[in-house]
Amino acid sequence: MSINAKPYCADLYQRVIKRNANEPEFHQAVKEVLESLIPVLEKHPDYIELGIMESIVEPERQIIFRVPWVDDAGSVHVNRGFRVQFNSAIGPYKGGLRFHPSVYIGIIKFLGFEQVFKNSLTGLPIGGAKGGADFDPKGKSDMEIMRFCQSFMTELYRHIGHDMDVPAGDIGVGAREIGYLFGQYKKIKNAYEAGVLTGKGLSYGGSLTRKEATGYGLIYFVNEMMKARGLSIEGKNVLISGSGNVAIYALEKVRQYGGRVVAVSDSGGYIHDPCGIQVSTLKQIKEVNRQRIFEYVKYHPTATYHEGCSGIWTIPCDIALPCATQNEIDEKSANMLVANGCKVVGEGANMPTDLAGTKVFLDNGVLFGPAKAANAGGVATSALEMSQNSMRLAWTFEEVDARLKDIMVNIYKNTSQAAEAYGLKDNLVAGANIAGFKKVAETMKAHGVV
Ligand code: GLU
Repeated sequence: MSINAKPYCADLYQRVIKRNANEPEFHQAVKEVLESLIPVLEKHPDYIELGIMESIVEPERQIIFRVPWVDDAGSVHVNRGFRVQFNSAIGPYKGGLRFHPSVYIGIIKFLGFEQVFKNSLTGLPIGGAKGGADFDPKGKSDMEIMRFCQSFMTELYRHIGHDMDVPAGDIGVGAREIGYLFGQYKKIKNAYEAGVLTGKGLSYGGSLTRKEATGYGLIYFVNEMMKARGLSIEGKNVLISGSGNVAIYALEKVRQYGGRVVAVSDSGGYIHDPCGIQVSTLKQIKEVNRQRIFEYVKYHPTATYHEGCSGIWTIPCDIALPCATQNEIDEKSANMLVANGCKVVGEGANMPTDLAGTKVFLDNGVLFGPAKAANAGGVATSALEMSQNSMRLAWTFEEVDARLKDIMVNIYKNTSQAAEAYGLKDNLVAGANIAGFKKVAETMKAHGVV
């Protein structure tokens, strides 16, 4: 049977749109991957013949559930919870939970889809999943967060397990939420199954370096990507959007490599300080006080606050690290960055650059580290947490950090080699999609049509 890969992918993409109507983020993620895989399918028509392409865009299971909870004033609220178990070819489903008002099935599906390739790139045995709820943690008390997490887990517990599906954090879900989720899981199951969640506190099976891992991993990846061109982070001006876990620890690592982060943001606006942003102040505001970023200017008079977050991309820089959320860099922002001299982009968030923005970077020779590869350090360290839980041992910070660094160096190597093997040298978007996909596809082939 001979199948022409290009029209096949175009047709499959149309079927994905039809079957998953009104889910533009999922369509976008699928489009990018299918386009990258055309050269692979030309060499491997068996992936089409065996239905692997149709399977890869269809989640194995999608769970949607009601999450009722009571606020501090005694009023009842009902949110919607999700878990999309996308692909378990190479390991138990693995991926974070996002609590944000924008969450709906299309966001969770795009994230779960991306997670399949990202997790494959880590080289560790983890399948892909994602979950979350349209719950807004902003302004909620600790007790409200706890009651919400308990209600969420009261349904989720039946779908997860340390060998089945292992959730973790994402936007709006950090160590506090994982603690409440774990407490409820332990109570319902009457079992101490540490490996059922990752990103846990250190006293109950969490891993050192997990908190830092996505941000540190991003900088290890960017450093590797730059090194291959004879460049370094030292002395460079860096923009980092976001001010969550990923942004804070990317900032910390940039400084260790001698770079200067001149701006960070949150969903309200950004702060700019040409003298460099202080990580200790940022940690105090975000991690301890849980405040908005504009508080920063009270501590550092050289810093200025600007309303609206996309303005951050108008600041001249050498390196841009989008670490906030999906589609935060569009074509216009990408053009602005290029015009202002930006030479390197590393994606810390998931799919932070839209398709047109990505094209601008690739067409202009910007070194571009796509999220699936560049932000895989978080989930990789989650897999290391699972290993420690299975062994009932805890590694030192240095040991986990060294493994994380090795993993990121390998991801860069595999991604750039895959791009080169298909005649797409320096296109790490294609490289990450190809390298991530091939391992999953070969495994699905080995398992038969199931
Ligand atoms: N949410 C993170 C990601 O996008 C981490 C997932 C995990 O640790 O399972 O990869």
